[in-house]
Amino acid sequence: MKKKNTLCLAVLIAAALLSPLPGTARTVTLPNDISWVLTSDTYLGVVQQAYLNAINRLRVLAEGKKPGTWCVVVDADETIISNVVFQAEQAARGEGYTQEAWNAWCRRMEATALPGAIEFLGEVRELGGKVIVITNRQAPLREVTVQNLEKVGIPFDACLLREGPYRDDRDKTQRRADIEKGTVRNLPLGQRLPPLEILMLAGDQPHDLYKDKSFDEVKDRYGKDLIIIPNPMYGDGMGSTYQVPARRIQRPAAAQPRRDVITWQEAMDRVGETVTVEAEIIGFYDPATRGGAGPVRLNTDRDWDNSLAIIFFNKDGQFGDPARFDGKTVRARGRVQTFRDSVQLRVFGPDAIEIVD
Ligand SMILES: [Mg+2]
Repeated sequence: MKKKNTLCLAVLIAAALLSPLPGTARTVTLPNDISWVLTSDTYLGVVQQAYLNAINRLRVLAEGKKPGTWCVVVDADETIISNVVFQAEQAARGEGYTQEAWNAWCRRMEATALPGAIEFLGEVRELGGKVIVITNRQAPLREVTVQNLEKVGIPFDACLLREGPYRDDRDKTQRRADIEKGTVRNLPLGQRLPPLEILMLAGDQPHDLYKDKSFDEVKDRYGKDLIIIPNPMYGDGMGSTYQVPARRIQRPAAAQPRRDVITWQEAMDRVGETVTVEAEIIGFYDPATRGGAGPVRLNTDRDWDNSLAIIFFNKDGQFGDPARFDGKTVRARGRVQTFRDSVQLRVFGPDAIEIVD
């Protein structure tokens, strides 16, 4: 948790530095990848877990090995030290990676040790092995890189940058081969490395661990002699595309919301359906008052021909006096039907119509 707090603090400080007003922090929402690395216990836990497991495995692998004949090779950035604050600051600026910004960050020497890394590398030495850091940081960053590692307490015997004879060794294979052959060049004056067996490798990118192999070819080595540290912020697998068959991404037709009670205008489009309509009655026609037969008609609009008529057969006066509905708001349930050119709601029975207002 100490690291987490340190990181959060660093971002707040950084935000303050970026703020238009001196001393005023600016809160920025970070992308999920950076946010996860910066703040989640899951990330810290996964890294810690990887190194605890590596310690246990190394004890087995180093058994019977003569001290000074073997080594563990580790990448630096996002493997043993964290530069998430750099990522957060760039995101806060609305910028991505640039060589200039990266160099400026490295010169600050503010990368922090990742959980478990110091303990793991300490164990390497305890067991008689050497720690070789292979990083693709380049020549101008030699001093600050070494100093940053020392500052955070990372134990190491050599730090091989992508510089000098290794300036084109992007996949790190040349440096690994030279370690095994004892032909490492470009070491600081007076330093020599004997041929070393590489017992274990740790990195956040596949090229830190192997080359020209598929995942399936090396999968049984993970957690044994290959230790991978998650890095969702850059590198392996970024910017990928994925082709999904169109039929799998078609959205299902949105279900029409069906309200329980609808307006008479809505009912006009629901011919054949059973609905409940709420409407104000603005007139009615009762054939019984004129000695005629047929249904009582309650009008919902003065334009009788183009509005919904609510109808019922008032046999034996079971609906009561139709005049009681006039000028009132009623709620009626029935089936929408057409009669000649008009649309009607035929009420199911006396219990299916009520005055609500
Ligand atoms: Mg790395």
